Amino acid sequence: MYDVIIVGAGPAGLTAALYLGRACRKVALFDNNQPRNYASQGMHGFISRDGMLPGEFRKISRDQLANYANVDIYDATVVTGRQVAEGFEIELEDGHTFRGRKLIVASGLKDELALIEGFNRLWGRGVFPCPYCDGWEVRDQPLAVHYTGDAAFRMVRLLTNWSADVTLITDGPSELSDEQRRQLVAAGIPVREEKIARVEGENHLERVVFEDGSSIPCKGLFTRPIQTQSTSLADAFNCEMDDLGRVKTSPVGGTSIPGLYVAGDAQAGGQNVVMAAAAGAMAGGFVSEELAFENFASRVESKSVKN
Ligand SMILES: Cc1cc2nc3c(=O)[nH]c(=O)nc-3n(C[C@H](O)[C@H](O)[C@H](O)COP(=O)(O)OP(=O)(O)OC[C@H]3O[C@@H](n4cnc5c(N)ncnc54)[C@H](O)[C@@H]3O)c2cc1C
Repeated sequence: MYDVIIVGAGPAGLTAALYLGRACRKVALFDNNQPRNYASQGMHGFISRDGMLPGEFRKISRDQLANYANVDIYDATVVTGRQVAEGFEIELEDGHTFRGRKLIVASGLKDELALIEGFNRLWGRGVFPCPYCDGWEVRDQPLAVHYTGDAAFRMVRLLTNWSADVTLITDGPSELSDEQRRQLVAAGIPVREEKIARVEGENHLERVVFEDGSSIPCKGLFTRPIQTQSTSLADAFNCEMDDLGRVKTSPVGGTSIPGLYVAGDAQAGGQNVVMAAAAGAMAGGFVSEELAFENFASRVESKSVKN
């Protein structure tokens, strides 16, 4: 029986484990090595780790957790979970079960890219989800925004931080309002509504090719994948979700189920490494406090009975 089970050893789960480990709690951390940023060529925006490969970050983190004998790390896939009298039980792919008084779900999200030839191959190599993560490397070069509607209007304006040469490519109707379209035209932002045939480039994105045979040079294409939870745990516990399929939580990651916390990309909020790590710290810290208070209450009760 563990104090805390954590599902997912990305930045959120690793940081939660560190906080709980340092709080002398007995922790089980499960991970199946499928991080969201597997395709990243360098993790940016985390001060002191800017440009570090995600795999290196995870290795250093695991090495540091090895200093805490009270933190067990299991390389395994969690398939489901349930509430039990003592707290929570999770079940692994091989049928083994583990129990913990508290459960932190830090299993992140899966990205489903648009079905456009080249998107998967060039994911993280010119086809990106986030300009803060990868915009600097393609600054002042031809960029494209692959969004529609209000989100497109927002992202195009944001991307002008990184380059004056931005094209909106919508792969169908842009769903812009007349006013949004007027402003984009006035600012010299081309709006291409033609269907996209493919994106090309050897090791890095070079151009976007449309079905009519025309193409534009492009070094950075920012797209918005459809996202789903990496595990079915949020469903298993009937967590309340937002419109984008992320779990609604309190600021410390709490859910409507006492003892169940969600941290990192899996919860509604920002999606980057430093925010995921911060969310892990919040959840880990709060859970350790909750455990301490419960233990303290039991101690008071048992002493009161004896006296
Ligand atoms: C291409 C790309 C580039 C990015 N670049 C940057 C960047 O430069 N800077 C930045 O700050 N952010 C970047 N991000 C975003 C960043 O990757 C995420 O915000 C961050 O990884 C979220 O951390 P997390 O711990 O919540 O989830 P993750 O890092 O996704 O970790 C979740 C972990 O849970 C595990 N898991 C999932 N399901 C199970 C299961 N059933 N059983 C056991 N384990 C499971 C996975 O194996 C994974 O290790 C990028 C994202 C992408 C897609």
